[in-house]
Amino acid sequence: MTLPTPLALAELKAALPDAFTEDADDMAPWLTEWRGRWTGHTPLLLQPRTKAEAQKAVEICARHGVAIVTQGGGTGLVGGQIPFGEILLSTRKLRDVRDVTPLDDAMTVEAGVTLLEAQEIAKANNRFFPLSLAAEGSATIGGVISTNAGGTQVLRYGMMRDLVLGIEAVMPDGQVFNGLKRLRKDNTGYDLKQLLIGAEGTLGVITAATLKLYPIMRSRCVAFVGLESAAASIELLARAKDETGGGVEAFE
Ligand SMILES: Cc1cc2nc3c(=O)[nH]c(=O)nc-3n(C[C@H](O)[C@H](O)[C@H](O)COP(=O)(O)OP(=O)(O)OC[C@H]3O[C@@H](n4cnc5c(N)ncnc54)[C@H](O)[C@@H]3O)c2cc1C
Repeated sequence: MTLPTPLALAELKAALPDAFTEDADDMAPWLTEWRGRWTGHTPLLLQPRTKAEAQKAVEICARHGVAIVTQGGGTGLVGGQIPFGEILLSTRKLRDVRDVTPLDDAMTVEAGVTLLEAQEIAKANNRFFPLSLAAEGSATIGGVISTNAGGTQVLRYGMMRDLVLGIEAVMPDGQVFNGLKRLRKDNTGYDLKQLLIGAEGTLGVITAATLKLYPIMRSRCVAFVGLESAAASIELLARAKDETGGGVEAFE
C-alpha cells in the first residue's frame, strides 16, 4: 500500500463528487485524537452516504494500491482512527436503519448510527440493546464492532462480539461481504464476521450490522456494599449471580 497519488485522488473525487472534502478546516476536527495525543494528516476525507459509495471508494483505492484509514465517531482510545497520510474514510454518514424485527430480537443498522441511537431505536421497539459506555453519544456501531467494545454490562450480555448476529463490509479489494444474517442457531461453515470484529478496520470497512436485541429488564436495583477485601468482592459477585439467577448486569 502506498500513500495517495494525484491520479487516485482525482479518480476518488470524480467518483464521489458530493461526498468528499479536502478543506483543511473541515478536516481538522477529525485529524486530532480527542485527548490531543495524536494529530494526523490526510489529503482527502471521504464521507460515503451509501454502501455503494463506500464500495466505490475502496475499489478505487485498491486499484491504485492506496491505503485507507476508516473512522467512525473518532472516540477510540488508541489512535486507530487517525490517518497519517492515508485516505480518511468516515462512516458517519452511513446512517440508515435497515430494519428492526422485535419478533426476531434483531435490528440491522448502518455503521454510522451511534451507539446511543441504536439503544433508542431498540427502546422505541420495546427491546433493549445492552452495550453501553460513556462515549455512546458519539461512538458508532461500526466503531464499537471494530474495537470489540465491552462497556458496563459485559457480565450479563458479553462484549460486542457477543451482540453481533451479522455484518456487511467492504473488503480491501472492493468486494462486499454480505454477512447480514439474523439466525441465532447458525452453524454453517466459518464465522467470518468474527474476524472483522475487533480488527480496528484492518480487514475491511464495516457498512452495516445486524445486532441482537433483548427484552427490557422489568426491574433493577443497585447496591453499594462495603467489603473488607478484594477476595470478598469476588465472593459477593458469585453470590449475587446465584441469588438473582444470573441477573447481575454490572459489578464494579
Ligand atoms: C469516555 C469513553 C468511555 C469508554 N468506555 C469504554 C468501555 O467501558 N468499554 C470499552 O470496551 N470501550 C470503552 N471506550 C472505548 C470505545 O469502545 C471506543 O471509543 C469506541 O468503540 C470507538 O467507536 P468510534 O465509532 O468512535 O470509532 P473510531 O474511534 O472512529 O475508530 C475506532 C477504530 O475502529 C475502526 N473503525 C471505526 N469504524 C469502522 C468501520 N465502520 N469499519 C471498520 N473499521 C472501523 C477505526 O479505524 C479505528 O481503528 C470508551 C471510550 C471513551 C471515549
